Amino acid sequence: MSLKKTRKIIHIDMDAFYASIEQRDSPELKNRPLIVGGSPNSRSVVCSASYEARRFGVRSAMSCAQAFRLCPQAIFISPHFEKYSQASLKMREIFKKVTSLIEPLGLDEAYLDVTENLLNEPMAKKIAVWIKDQIMKEIGTTASAGVGPNKFIAKLASDSVKPNGLVVVPPEKVFAFIQQLPVEKFWGVGPATTKKLHSKEIRTAADIRRLSPHQLQTIVGSYSSSLFEMAHGRDEREVDPSLDRKSKGSETTFKQDILNRNELLRYLEMQCLEISVDLKKLEMFGKTITLKIKYFDFKSITRSKTLFQPTNEVDYIYETAQELLSKDTEVGHRPVRLIGVSIGNLIYIKDPMQLWFEFPRIEFNLTKRNESTYL
Ligand SMILES: [Mg+2]
Repeated sequence: MSLKKTRKIIHIDMDAFYASIEQRDSPELKNRPLIVGGSPNSRSVVCSASYEARRFGVRSAMSCAQAFRLCPQAIFISPHFEKYSQASLKMREIFKKVTSLIEPLGLDEAYLDVTENLLNEPMAKKIAVWIKDQIMKEIGTTASAGVGPNKFIAKLASDSVKPNGLVVVPPEKVFAFIQQLPVEKFWGVGPATTKKLHSKEIRTAADIRRLSPHQLQTIVGSYSSSLFEMAHGRDEREVDPSLDRKSKGSETTFKQDILNRNELLRYLEMQCLEISVDLKKLEMFGKTITLKIKYFDFKSITRSKTLFQPTNEVDYIYETAQELLSKDTEVGHRPVRLIGVSIGNLIYIKDPMQLWFEFPRIEFNLTKRNESTYL
């Protein structure tokens, strides 16, 4: 028997985050199908869709044109990232009252390890209720929460009760909870692995559990051991609060190759916005911008530039990415299959709120940290 204490992990996920924030701020958008993204006749993508729009099959990352075909009565609005990142920061302040073991996943989701917690509350369910209440009170939107003995189970749990749900899966219920879980829902299982499993009539966790580790290995190769563990409800990954990631990036692979330069720039701008918002949320700044392009023939190139001073401002990131794109690429001449941007050389700033709203266009050297610079 393991002496390890059973962990209590909460996965919290805001419901239709951007759309909910917009509905919160504009009463006329409430209870209406709302799409946050580009205009319906552009090739831009849906950033977020309200539940009213999802009923028509609209999903995040779908092209706005397709969303419009599915739901012509939807209201389309452009994103307001500053608002979302404000809400995201507030959410993190709430989490910090519970534990320092917080692992953010994007702007609106996080894992919290509440095995030990600052509220001294042994019932993880009560903590989840408290967090949901605080989010409603402080931010004015709903979130869904899943509680489980590990990250895999906690996330599945919260996904299963969206929107505005809460579910607890105690260790003794884990088997039953994932019994009928389709293999494609497993963490790390992509289309290729799904295909391999389906070809052997393996469709659910229960199907996987009927195999020996060796049998599973002959089907999916090296991935078999983690899949085997998950099918038994086990997941040893820690909640990782470490902020010193090496880089932060975003990329998009197109269903159809894109030749049009302006169209590519729109994706690029969206990606830069995403990175900027993520960095702000993590209280981080980066210095090296890298543009990645994969052409239709799978030939891929990267171009980088290191800035004089670190930034997390979308304007600077996008400006640099555009510059890289204009220089020494074949964009506009060869169809592009994938475009992406990332920022590296990241640094963490302790108290960014002081400089948030007036991020220095003035010069200051962040490598020499001097408290007085930030106060
Ligand atoms: Mg969400």
